Amino acid sequence: MKQFVVIGLGRFGLSLAETLYDLGHDVLGIDIDEEIVQNVADSITHAVKADATDENALRALGVRNFDVAVVSIGNDIQASILVTLILKEMGIKYVVAKAQNELHGKVLYKIGADRIVFPERDMGIRVAHNLTLSNILDY
Ligand code: ATP
Repeated sequence: MKQFVVIGLGRFGLSLAETLYDLGHDVLGIDIDEEIVQNVADSITHAVKADATDENALRALGVRNFDVAVVSIGNDIQASILVTLILKEMGIKYVVAKAQNELHGKVLYKIGADRIVFPERDMGIRVAHNLTLSNILDY
């Protein structure tokens, strides 16, 4: 069992957090929006309202002890970059960050993100492969 912290519980972050939890992992979800936090409270280990660009708030939550952090903030590129930087500076070994576009992805990579995901692009590639390899069971 690993410990995951998922920052930003939009469509991508929420789906990821709930899936990790269903797979038996420990999942802390953080979002700046109180309503979002309340809605997810029963479906992951722990959900907290906090502004993840606030380093002290992340420290207080013990985020540095997690194995993996996922930054799933998309629209606010500045926040996504700041949070990713803070997490890497805290010493989290594996940080996954969601990018809005190529340039955003490049910046995230340069500041130390270990893996960048482009949800729509990655899913497009995956579905294309899936459609041409119909003998492989995947969905
Ligand atoms: P998706 O496509 O996954 O729905 P999105 O990129 O369209 O996501 P955003 O609005 O960018 O969605 O952010 C995803 C979540 O991140 C939202 O629930 C938002 O409240 C949260 N969020 C944004 N900024 C912060 C922050 N500074 N700290 C914590 N959570 C944040």
